[in-house]
Amino acid sequence: MLKVRDLHAGYGKADVLHGVNFDVSAGECVALVGANGAGKSTTLKCICGLVGVRGGSIEFEGRRIDGLPGHTIVRLGITMCPEGRQVFPDMSVRENLEMGAHVRSDRAQAADLEAMMDLFPVLRSRARQSAGTLSGGEQEMLAIARALMSKPKLCIFDEPSLGLAPKIVAEVEQTLARIKAMGVTVLLVEQNASMALRLADRAYVYEAGEIVLQGTGTELQAHPEVSKAYLGY
Ligand code: ATP
Repeated sequence: MLKVRDLHAGYGKADVLHGVNFDVSAGECVALVGANGAGKSTTLKCICGLVGVRGGSIEFEGRRIDGLPGHTIVRLGITMCPEGRQVFPDMSVRENLEMGAHVRSDRAQAADLEAMMDLFPVLRSRARQSAGTLSGGEQEMLAIARALMSKPKLCIFDEPSLGLAPKIVAEVEQTLARIKAMGVTVLLVEQNASMALRLADRAYVYEAGEIVLQGTGTELQAHPEVSKAYLGY
């Protein structure tokens, strides 16, 4: 579904990605893990058209998407659930969900909105409340549901557990497992490497703008360098 080849990107004079290569197949959950500042979020932003690509290519379903504007990439079927949630704070929970579906023209949006409220009952009870008044965990659920409202072929999650209490992190993990079980293709960036490797079919380890290791989630959990550097054992 997604092919990233020899990807180079950066900001101003700084080069951040130095030739990144990875694939995501339909139905897979793929995680990108690694240290802070290694370039994982930059990779996601390149895929979504939010950061310019300096070299290499990104293909989605056989079509080059590097260089396309973000709004076109969303319409092709790639949606990002951004780091820090970034819900629309002054809009209601329901309006945030409706915004998630703005690229769709089919008639199933109302049914999908109900389905999202079934998946996240807290969103139903807070449907008319301003999103900015929700707790961090509730905002994360809203951001995930808003992303799913676009019916993406590929759903990208940037640090969904960031800044949340351990109990809420466990809920986020269960939610992502359910989304994966629904057959949504997932690309996940997570500082919480143990959670990411439990969820991922395959994962790639970043170091200073390059991929230095790859394997199944299970293989990488057992890899001595990964466990020492990122899993704390
Ligand atoms: P983190 O978990 O900290 O987000 P990451 O692996 O996702 O880590 P990136 O956010 O992609 O890393 O950042 C890679 C490098 O690019 C870092 O050195 C960061 O400081 C730099 N960087 C990120 N965004 C910008 C920006 N908008 N302008 C300038 N430099 C940036």
